[in-house]
Amino acid sequence: MDVYGLLGNPVGHSLSPPMHEAAYRELGMDARYVTFEPDPESLEAAISGASALGIKGLNVTIPFKQEVLTLVELDDLADRIGAVNTIDLTGTPTGYNTDAAGARRALERHDVDLDGARAVLIGAGGAARAIAFVLADEGATIQIANRTKERAEELATAVPQTTGHGLPDLPDLLENADVLINATSVGMETDTSPVPAESLHRHLTVMDVVYRPLETRLLRDAKQTGAETVDGGWMLLYQGVEALERWTGREAPVEAMNETLRGELTDEAGAFK
Ligand code: NAP
Repeated sequence: MDVYGLLGNPVGHSLSPPMHEAAYRELGMDARYVTFEPDPESLEAAISGASALGIKGLNVTIPFKQEVLTLVELDDLADRIGAVNTIDLTGTPTGYNTDAAGARRALERHDVDLDGARAVLIGAGGAARAIAFVLADEGATIQIANRTKERAEELATAVPQTTGHGLPDLPDLLENADVLINATSVGMETDTSPVPAESLHRHLTVMDVVYRPLETRLLRDAKQTGAETVDGGWMLLYQGVEALERWTGREAPVEAMNETLRGELTDEAGAFK
């Protein structure tokens, strides 16, 4: 039996086990996906122990995405982003950032052409950083707006074709934008949006990284203007798809994984309704 897993703390509410195990069933793999909560000081031992035990791959989540950077080889994108969420243990332990590819594939799935697109990205934390690099790699120009403007400016210096702003600039930035991505946690705890509804327009594709709830206030507002929307479940799905494909070398059964993920997320929906 092959074993894959997730390192984080806490990992109790993770949707990765059901999503990955749905893929194993669909692919006829004899495999399990297990969650682990190591102490921070045991992280290095956890990774080498997993490798020694023949565990094939690990996902990594909060609070370890930066800590593992010095413990594994890095692929170029993970190195530039400065965060790892997937480790391939089938050879020399190597870290990848599949959040970035997850965002790209979520947008591709919704027919968004990023080459030459004018993107507005809200946030300057871990998710925003991963998305900013992948947007730039795909040829978009990016305007980052963050509550703490200095963090947006700092991120903009690291990413090509990017400028940094504060949230009050959003209405102006959105006037000529093609794509809007919320990469903050706003909309998760409360039914609030980081964007004034009147700044949205029907020429936008609006993606939210928040997936609890799936339909955030931002996405509801966007739908009302006639904009295309991409909920946070799609990025979550495709980061898992990308991880599974790296670990196994096989094409992931995307629809089976999506069905399971959406089933889990819908079961917990209705938080603000
Ligand atoms: P993080 O590194 O802690 O960054 C949080 C970001 O949110 C910062 O830009 C922060 O602004 C901003 N923020 C927080 N509260 C705010 C508020 N009340 N008003 C305005 N801005 C606020 O977190 P992260 O790891 O990037 O995660 C952000 C969200 O992405 C979380 O909800 C997470 O669940 C989600 N996520 C989803 C996926 C997916 O696959 N769908 C993947 C990764 C993360 P400041 O800089 O001013 O503090």
